[in-house]
Parts: sequence; structure tokens; C-alpha cells
Amino acid sequence: MALYVQKYGGTSVGTVEKIEAVAEKVKGFRDKGHDIVVVVSAMSGETNRLIGLAHEVMEQPTPREMDTLVSTGEQVTISLLCMALNKRGCPARSYTGGQVQILTDNAHMKARIQKIDDEKIHSDLKQGKVVVVAGFQGVDEDGNITTLGRGGSDTTGVALAAALNADECQIYTDVDGVYTTDPRIVAKAQRMEKVTFEEMLEMASLGSKVLQIRSVEFAGKYNVPLRVLSTFQDGPGTLITLEEESEMEKPVISGIAFSRDEAKITVLGVPDIPGVASRILGPVSAANIEVDMIVQNVAADKTTDFTFTVHRNDFNKVMKVVEQVSDDLGAREVTGDDSICKVSIVGVGMRSHAGVASKMFDTLAAESINIQMISTSEIKISVVVSEKYLELGVRALHTAFGLDSESTD
Ligand code: ADP
Ligand code: ASP
Ligand code: MG
Repeated sequence: MALYVQKYGGTSVGTVEKIEAVAEKVKGFRDKGHDIVVVVSAMSGETNRLIGLAHEVMEQPTPREMDTLVSTGEQVTISLLCMALNKRGCPARSYTGGQVQILTDNAHMKARIQKIDDEKIHSDLKQGKVVVVAGFQGVDEDGNITTLGRGGSDTTGVALAAALNADECQIYTDVDGVYTTDPRIVAKAQRMEKVTFEEMLEMASLGSKVLQIRSVEFAGKYNVPLRVLSTFQDGPGTLITLEEESEMEKPVISGIAFSRDEAKITVLGVPDIPGVASRILGPVSAANIEVDMIVQNVAADKTTDFTFTVHRNDFNKVMKVVEQVSDDLGAREVTGDDSICKVSIVGVGMRSHAGVASKMFDTLAAESINIQMISTSEIKISVVVSEKYLELGVRALHTAFGLDSESTD
């Protein structure tokens, strides 16, 4: 008999009826003799609702209070699910992150798991109970409640699976696996049977929110067998694996990721002297703002235009910081655009194929989509384009790289 860690996301526990359905499903696994540890998210929309409440009170609450607030969403679902299981004659026990305990560092709202105490879980499993753990939350050394960043219940699931040496970590969600791109945008997207950790990590980092980035990192690092499946229909889902497919079967491009959460800042007419990049980006990083893509080019007049992208939430803050630096540097002007997006093609097959970039650029050009920035790594090419071209660009690339499924049902 196997030990499974099963994580059910927000839409899977979005109503009492859905929680009852999850309880049925979990009981079904238990009845087959498997040991089951369940991780649940808050009911869909709840974490956003709680964040909204906080912002009604003040613009920038302390991260500690935010964590105390947003962690409550998961406390509701663990208890309701246990009640639904108990009602079905399936003994179950709920635990918050602090009770388990899931020890994290003290970086509120983006804490990292350091250690998991599996004693209570093992003892409950031994007594035939289902263990239900709150996703997304932990506790630091001083007993403060911490959270793991948005989408963090995936990471709770994977970390528990690693700690318990589970046979599989199963991420149950509202899609039946990982698709070649977000099926909400491209109806012809296809479910992948398998995807490598490396590709999944790129997809997640580049905006495919089906798995939190850290959960994939964690699963790769501890070699946790990880599968994404549908809560609502049976099927094999998608296995995230270390194995690459053979050269013959490998598609050049495995998937397309995109992110709308982007903004672009350009400092025009900066003197082209050593230290400029550091003088622009130093204060940005000192303000705790993460920079993504960077492009710099020298013009004939020995000045340079310096462009970089940040998360859209940071746009106003970064504009203020950069306007200040630009005055100090004697730059001509600072411009910003917060209606851009990033579209990326990902595939380990890119390593052994030439012409992928030009095919991407030709495809976008054929749709008259202007590319504003480009960045590449060994297994991905990302472009920044105007947000209004997101759907068009993703669909055109999906077709051009042969990813469309034959049927749309
Ligand atoms: P949960 O609430 O279960 O954690 P999420 O909303 O976080 O669910 O993740 C599932 C969603 O991820 C899907 O509804 C889908 O729209 C989106 N998604 C984005 N990219 C992909 C992809 N490549 N494959 C599958 N789903 C994707
Ligand atoms: N409830 C948290 C969120 O909405 C964690 C999760 O769902 O994974 O981000
Ligand atoms: Mg999620």
C-alpha cells in the first residue's frame, strides 16, 4: 500500500459541496488501504478577500500581521474537510502549520520551509487516520505564523511528501494536468503525459501558475515524484519527471508560458560610462524590488538607453526610485509602460535544434506583433510585447511550433 500526499487547491475546496466531494475522493483512497496525507488551500477567492480586508485598514500592513490574517483561510478548509471525512466514518485529524510543525525562516509572506516534524503525522497514520494539513503556512522559531508566498500550498504538499518519503505527491486542481500552455487561453492546448523538472521549473518561473515555482524546485531537489491531476475527473494527469524523452520523441518546444504581471522602465540618454547599470539598479534592489529582464544598448552619441522589467505591482515604486537616480546621472528621460507582457517558449529540445529563435520571431512578425525585448537561456526564449497581443502571440506560437491538438473537445 502506498503513502500519498494529496494537495487540493482553492477551486477544489471552493464550496462545502466541493469539500464533501474531496472527502469522498480521499475516503476512496483510504478504503483501498493507502495512507493519505491531505494538504488543502483556502476556499477559492478567500486569500484575495483577506488581503482586500487588510488593505481596507491600511495600505502597507506589517508582513507579520498579513501572515496571521491570510493563514486563516486554510484553517477553515482543514477543519471542514476533517468534519466531512469523520461524517463518512473516516477518522481524520487537522493540523495547522504551527501544530505539525512546519518550521520556516522568518521571511514573512515568502518564508522558506526549513524542517518538518513528522512525528504526529506518522502516529496518526499508524492509527488509520487521514491527516489534513493546512497548506501555505508555517511557523518560525519564535512561534510567529508565516506564509510561503501565493500558491504556496503546492510547496507544503511537496515538502511533506519529501519529509514523509511519500510514494507520490499529487497536486489535484481544476485542470487534468500540465498543458502545453494555459488551456484558458488556448483551447487547442494539449495535456502533457510527462514534463521534466527543468522544463516545469522554467514554465512556472515564466508565469504558468499551475504549480508554484518553489514546489517544483523542492520536488527536483529531493526527487519527489510529482503529479498534477484533476479533482473532478479521473485520469493519469501529468508526471513531472527527471527523465528526458529520447531524442526522437522530444518536441523542440514543450510549452509556452506567459505573464501579464510585467512592467517596463527605460532610462533614456544615460552617459555610457562604467558603473551606470549598478547606479540605476542598486537603488532598485535596495528598495527590495526584483528586476527581471535587462537590456542596454549604446547609441552613436555615446549615451545609452537602459531598459529593465519588474513585477507590475512594483511599477509606481520603481518609477519614483529611477526618476531620482536619473536626475543624479544626468539622463535625458525616464519612461515606463505597465501594459506589457512576457511570452516565453520552453523546451529542452531547443538545445539540439537551431533556428528556434528565428521561427519565434518570424511567427510574431507575421502577426505584426512588435518585440520590445528578448532574453534567452539554454531552454527558453522570452519576448516582451504589448499586453494587447498576448492571446494572439501565444496562439500563433502554439500553432507554429506544432503544439495544437487535433480536437478541441
Ligand atoms: P489551484 O487553486 O488548484 O492551486 P491554480 O489556479 O493555482 O489552481 O492552478 C490551476 C490553473 O493554472 C488552471 O486553471 C490553468 O488556468 C492555469 N494554468 C496556467 N498554465 C497552465 C498550464 N501550462 N497547464 C495547466 N494549467 C495552467
Ligand atoms: N491560499 C493561498 C493562495 O491563494 C495558497 C494556495 O492556494 O496555494 O495563494
Ligand atoms: Mg495554485
